Amino acid sequence: MTDLSNARYVVVGAGMHGLSTAYHLARELEARGLGEGSDVLVLEKSEPGAGATGIACGVVRNNYFQPAMSELMQACVEVWESDPEGYAYQPVGYIALGAASQEADLVATYERQERIGYRSRIVTGEAEVAEYMRGLFPDWRARGVTVCLHELQGGFAFNRESVAGLARKCEAAGVRIATGVEVSGFDSAGDGSIRAVETSAGSVEVGEQVVVAPGPWAQDFWRMLDLPPTIDIRLPSGEVERDRPMWTFWNLQEGEITVDPTLFALADGGAPPVIHLDSDAPLHTDDGKLVTDELWGIYFKRDRDGVQGGASPLVVDGDVELDPYPLTTDVDPDFPDMWCAALSHAMSRFEGMRPRYRKARSGGVGSFTADNFPVFDFLRPNLYAILDSNHGYKMIGVGREVARTLLGEHSGLLYPFRFERFETGDLHPVSSSPYPWS
Ligand SMILES: Cc1cc2nc3c(=O)[nH]c(=O)nc-3n(C[C@H](O)[C@H](O)[C@H](O)COP(=O)(O)OP(=O)(O)OC[C@H]3O[C@@H](n4cnc5c(N)ncnc54)[C@H](O)[C@@H]3O)c2cc1C
Repeated sequence: MTDLSNARYVVVGAGMHGLSTAYHLARELEARGLGEGSDVLVLEKSEPGAGATGIACGVVRNNYFQPAMSELMQACVEVWESDPEGYAYQPVGYIALGAASQEADLVATYERQERIGYRSRIVTGEAEVAEYMRGLFPDWRARGVTVCLHELQGGFAFNRESVAGLARKCEAAGVRIATGVEVSGFDSAGDGSIRAVETSAGSVEVGEQVVVAPGPWAQDFWRMLDLPPTIDIRLPSGEVERDRPMWTFWNLQEGEITVDPTLFALADGGAPPVIHLDSDAPLHTDDGKLVTDELWGIYFKRDRDGVQGGASPLVVDGDVELDPYPLTTDVDPDFPDMWCAALSHAMSRFEGMRPRYRKARSGGVGSFTADNFPVFDFLRPNLYAILDSNHGYKMIGVGREVARTLLGEHSGLLYPFRFERFETGDLHPVSSSPYPWS
């Protein structure tokens, strides 16, 4: 039975970030002769992977218009590549295809990838992109696409298996993981530092530091830390926007077609990259009904039981009930028609697949910050928060950076995500993508 009365380091949440932080912290303590794995205690109200990590599509990509995101993703891919088997990582690569309005952003992203040494290719021009894609998939037929960024690194990982792999690594490093223990608040000293974490299993005295990695439950912890529901933001123009909500929720729409997974293969029979397709060509269902004539987008990957993916998420109005997770609010009822039409638009092998659509164990709610980018920062003198704004399955390396930060190092990769940016106006540039995560 794990002793929950005290711990030097308390990590809240056993998703991607909590587990990665605990594992890397245990290793750093040991390597530097500063302690051992059992100094780290993870508190999880349910079980590892019960939150967003266990439901994520699992896409690992670098394609971000924001330099800080792209550089951080490069470090994260390095961690994925360090143990593909242990993390259930599939290094199949990733392709982003866009319409003319997205060309400049994708070219800029490619040029940065060149500079930082992230392996990728760019193809521009409608005919050139079509030819490139037909070289990979002979039945490629998407229209309205003038740019293709092919990342030769990245791919995806199987969500539950990677959580299990991380949990195994934690346990092997001596980390204690307490499941079924819900955190309800903090006992603070006069200077704001956390003396104890209040839980359903009693009070856990904190020896040194606390890390919270609550995924979609970020708002609960924001409240526990007495932080304001709205914040002021200094915009690039210098103007200050007052009272923007700190947290919003989006419903991620995802689904699956149940087919032999090898239906989705490269021309040479190899495993296909993850594909993200945005187009402004009119989209029709297989029987000719117009779905949309505005910019649309989907992503898809080969999965264990077929092809899985999603489309642009929907804002959830008002507050959400997150327990149990995932939320089962209805997503857009037109989503299956749209997603299957878009698959068929991309490749003729997917024609007539609408009857094979099913709502698989996928889709769920994400919690987004005021600018839709993560907040990685100390919110109290000894409390570090990993609030990833739903970007973060791919961000397995954030835990490594946080572990080093807790031990006194400066992380240039995490610095651009400090909370102070809202006040100082050091915001991340915004892309032309319709997604809140690009
Ligand atoms: C449908 C969907 C698809 C996604 N696809 C991708 C993708 O393809 N690629 C990508 O990079 N990202 C993706 N994401 C985003 C990604 O899943 C999340 O950003 C990431 O998993 C968050 O990890 P986390 O560790 O912060 O949170 P979580 O995995 O949610 O873990 C938080 C944990 O904290 C626990 N917890 C919460 N409150 C308490 C409490 N009071 N006490 C104790 N424990 C508590 C929860 O039970 C949970 O286990 C997707 C998200 C969704 C919803």
